[in-house]
Amino acid sequence: MPRYDFRCRTCDATFELRRPMAQAGAPAVCPQGHEDTVKLLSAVAVTGSASGGAPQQAPSGGGGGCCGGGCCS
Ligand SMILES: [Zn+2]
Repeated sequence: MPRYDFRCRTCDATFELRRPMAQAGAPAVCPQGHEDTVKLLSAVAVTGSASGGAPQQAPSGGGGGCCGGGCCS
């Protein structure tokens, strides 16, 4: 089940929810109970499903470069 990141515009907290794709656009409520939330576009890591053939690039390859360590986020 994919994860979705949300941010609460009331208390500025970020949280994530697991929900079916069919409910991806459904409103989410902040853990604090606020309803003014926005869905963040994040890289959804779908693990455990054998879809696709080519291996994705590992996040911690240590092969150098800047963008692996999050220094340029
Ligand atoms: Zn909140």
